Formats: sequence, C-alpha cells, structure tokens
Amino acid sequence: MAQIKLQNVEDYYEIGEVLGSGHFGQVRAVLERASKVHWAGKFLKLRRSASSRLGLERKSVEREVEILQSLQHANVMALRDVFESRAEVVLIVELISGGELFDFIAEKESLSEEEAIEFLKQILMGVGFMHTKNIAHFDLKPENIMLADKTMPHPHIKIIDFGLAHCLKQGEEYRSLSGTPQYIAPEVINYEPLSEAADIWLSGLSPFQGDNDEETLKNIVGMIYEFEENYFTQTSTMAKDFIEKLLVKDPIERMTADECLVHPWIKPLTRKQADNRSRSSINMKSFKKFNAKRKWKMSYNMVWACNRLFRLQLQCKSRSPEDPELRQCESDQEDTETKPASLIRRRLSSSS
Ligand code: ATP
Repeated sequence: MAQIKLQNVEDYYEIGEVLGSGHFGQVRAVLERASKVHWAGKFLKLRRSASSRLGLERKSVEREVEILQSLQHANVMALRDVFESRAEVVLIVELISGGELFDFIAEKESLSEEEAIEFLKQILMGVGFMHTKNIAHFDLKPENIMLADKTMPHPHIKIIDFGLAHCLKQGEEYRSLSGTPQYIAPEVINYEPLSEAADIWLSGLSPFQGDNDEETLKNIVGMIYEFEENYFTQTSTMAKDFIEKLLVKDPIERMTADECLVHPWIKPLTRKQADNRSRSSINMKSFKKFNAKRKWKMSYNMVWACNRLFRLQLQCKSRSPEDPELRQCESDQEDTETKPASLIRRRLSSSS
C-alpha cells in the first residue's frame, strides 16, 4: 500500500486554481514549494461514516492509489504523492495541461486516419499495459483521455481517472454496474463477470445513444446501433473492420488491446493497406457534432446532479433536528458546499 502522508499537504504544496471536478472532489493545480515544480492535486472527500451517502469509502481511495502506483507508463497519469487528513485524501499527480483529446481534435479542420491512429495507438499502449498488470480501467471514455501538452507537434496521450479501476485476480469473479451509460459494455449492464475486455468496448464512440440512459443501455444490450452513412463516407474499409471487431457483444470474442495494435488498420501489412489508410480521413463535421452533443450531455448530467443534491438537502432540512439521519445529512452537506457537483454517479450507477 502507498505511503500515505499524514502531514498537511499545504506544508509541501501551494494549492492553486481548479482544473476540473469529478463526482467526489476537485482537481487543482499545485506547486511543490521545495522544487517549484507544478503538479495537479486530486482532492477526494472521504465518507464520514458507514451510513453517509456522500464521499468515498477509504477503501476505494486506497484502491485507486494502489492501482496508480502500479501503473508507471508514459500514457498513464503518474502518481507522485498521497496525503490524508480527517476529511479527505489528496493525490498529487502529474499535471496534464493539454485538455481532453476530443476537444483538441474537434478544433481541427481535418484529421487523417493516420493522425487518428497515432492517438489510438497511444491509448491502446496505455490500456494494453494496464491489462498486462491485470488492471481494468472500467471507465474509459473521451473525458478520461487527455493530452500532456497540446502545443507539441505530436501530443502525448495520458489516461486519467482510475476511480473505477480494478485489479482482477485469477479465480475471482468481479462484477460491477458502474460506468457511464453511453460507453458501458454489455457485460457490465448484464451484471456478468468482468474482464479487461470491458475496456475495449468502443471507448470513444457511442452509436447506441438513445433519448435517455435507459434507452441507451437497452440499445447496448440489444446491440441496436446506427452508424449514420454520412459519418463513414471518407472511412477506409480497414477502419470499419476495426470498429466491427470492437463492437462484439461477447467479451471473449472482442479484440484485446494487443490484438488491436496489430490489426492491419493500425499496423498495415501491405503497401495497399497503408495507401488506403493515408487516403482516408475522419469526417470532421460529424465528429464536431458528436463532441458538441457529448459536452451538452456532460453539462446536462451536472445540472441533474446539482438538482438531486438540492432535493437531498431539502429532504434533510424538512426532518426534525433530533433525527440521527439528519445529523448525518448535515455533515454531508458541509462536505458538498465547496463542490456541488461532487455527487454520487458511481453509487447511483452501481445501484441502478
Ligand atoms: P469522475 O467523477 O468522472 O469519476 P473523478 O472525481 O474521479 O471523476 P477525475 O476524472 O480524475 O475525477 O478528474 C476530474 C477532472 O479534472 C478531469 O475531467 C480533468 O478535467 C481534470 N483533471 C484530472 N486529472 C488531471 C491532471 N492530472 N491534470 C490536469 N487536469 C486533470
């Protein structure tokens, strides 16, 4: 287990601006006082008691820390240090300043398949590395694929957010209902034993998108999907073949990360395959539309979460102050004041 420091994080790091928010805390820029090196601090609120509805169980933070410690790879966010106080754990991690890969791509006028493959290869290398350590991420989605520095000619991919990741042990079955509806694999929805294959389920595209989450999940399990014809007018046959091999319901039949890396679309075997690939490109109009829809959905979820929190607080307030649950609720309220969006998607999704 990681050496968790019980000292005050602020004695070592100066806490700066908010870089992002998750369901259980914020990520902030931090400056190491001694070295003047910039890092990011992921502040995770701890659950105050077993019956509390907000914050994370210490066990789950420990799991995230252990997993990050065992993953030292160029395409995986690096962990530097861990601090713990009564109410929270702070992970000091490498600062990833290039934003989300999909936002970077959406700003481009054009993107060739070759350029897209350069990114995809890095994602697959990071994911493949995790899988060699029997670690599955279980929440691979565009929001968790970032760029180290987008001003570089060949930006470097960094996979973040190991909050749902799990180290799979041989002979042990692992099931979970957590994840993000649009990107969730069918075996997760069906509550079947999970393997690393769940990470290879289409992590970026979401052709199953329904009008609501329930419909999306039904579409995934029923393999009801639609690839709009105009999305694929400039797409090579090899790329389509690659996608089809990811869209396989049975996790055992799905390509592994290593198999993906040697698929002829990623690693052409003949000159003809390489030429086909270099003539094909990504339909940027459709991509921009997909990205805008994704961003809209993210902010919709945020508003939904805030409303839910507000209702939860109202419920607490309407109870008698003697009610023991109210005391619990009040302490949770205090937790959430600084981070209204730090809600309970993981728990909600794991019980839905
Ligand atoms: P979720 O609720 O989605 O599971 P989380 O609470 O586990 O999220 P992260 O996804 O790890 O939190 O981080 C939240 C956001 O903070 C990210 O979407 C990203 O914008 C930003 N972020 C995370 N890690 C870093 C980093 N190392 N450098 C810069 N920004 C980061």
